[in-house]
Amino acid sequence: MDALDAKYPFFATAREAVADAAVSLPELVAADAPAVERARERVERALMDGTVASESGAFPAESAYDAQAELLSYPVARILVSLLDSEPAIEKYAAAEAATAIDRIREDLATDDELRSMSTPTVALDDVLAEFDLADAVRPESPRSDARAGGATGGSGATATGAGGAPGRDPEHYWIAVGPYLRLTSPSWGESWRLVNRALADGEVRVSREELLDALEAAVADRVREGLPFELAAGEGIAAELESGVADLKRLLSERTYAGPVDVVAPDLFPPCMRNLIDKAERGTDLSPPESFALMAFLVGIGMSPDEVVAFCADTSLDAEGIRYQTEYLSDDRGTQYPPPTCETLANYGICHNEEDHMQVAADPLAYYETRVAEADEITDWRERNATAGEAENGPEEAGESEAEAGSE
Ligand code: SF4
Repeated sequence: MDALDAKYPFFATAREAVADAAVSLPELVAADAPAVERARERVERALMDGTVASESGAFPAESAYDAQAELLSYPVARILVSLLDSEPAIEKYAAAEAATAIDRIREDLATDDELRSMSTPTVALDDVLAEFDLADAVRPESPRSDARAGGATGGSGATATGAGGAPGRDPEHYWIAVGPYLRLTSPSWGESWRLVNRALADGEVRVSREELLDALEAAVADRVREGLPFELAAGEGIAAELESGVADLKRLLSERTYAGPVDVVAPDLFPPCMRNLIDKAERGTDLSPPESFALMAFLVGIGMSPDEVVAFCADTSLDAEGIRYQTEYLSDDRGTQYPPPTCETLANYGICHNEEDHMQVAADPLAYYETRVAEADEITDWRERNATAGEAENGPEEAGESEAEAGSE
């Protein structure tokens, strides 16, 4: 089996490779083949750490699994996640597959031609675009569109330096047809993603290379989510064979469920990663989707309601509608399955710089914050300060009304 199919198991060629191999998944599961062990790891890492990369090392060079186990682990993982019977688990799994795929694509694009032609199996951006029917919808910026970018109305794109420049292997900017742009991106990612704030000309939207990768990440997540959950009769066939693996995953999820949010909002005690993200947003800089997810998951994780998060982020680059969308989703009844990403994951995204080596202290920002809250002598909750300030500004009656409104939600 092809290592490239194993790296990108959601590609059409990979699905064909699985079909051509005529492997019986029930037999594989019954034999507890390495693909099954890897599938369990895949789902566990997705739900716990937001990645599906193997802990044994990067595929293919360092991983303990060969191409066959890696590739076949994907369809088995999809069965496992279906058996978890949880919509948030499917969302998290799809997001983790997409995040890992984009990390691999980013590495592939950075691989130099010499290495590419030797043994390392890599994809080119054109391959990825073609895979998602975007070959005709995305093109690198040319000097002609440079001129248009300078002249087009709009926010971030129009004010870009225009240095994106010459078409070539690594252009800095691309133009994407407006239909796919709207389908693959979301205003909830931040103000700069709104069409009104974009350079737009001749039905095309200007995006940076990183933004194009963000859109492709959404395309991968859509592809992974497609068809899930499978309809499987519990206790029969492959579902019966996977029962203990599913039970282990459910147990892990419930162990990861917090006893209850710490329910104190003390920004002075927030871990450095979260303080850095808040500072960045307060300077008016847009947060990337992983940054914004990490921050929202943390704020919801400490017990803040969507209204409180909106008020807390009022003077930042984050827009109220986007905050509401994300936090309401995270505050879902089963939102405990969306714990904030771990310190390890945040380090991979460059969000954590492990200040003062405090990764030694906690596995995730919420656990770190809980420790600091427990150690603090005296804490004034930001919500109390905010309510007092609101009373001073609006008078006690109005402040009382808005609190009651918030409480009744
Ligand atoms: S070690 Fe964890 S809590 Fe500390 S800054 Fe990094 S991600 Fe945040």
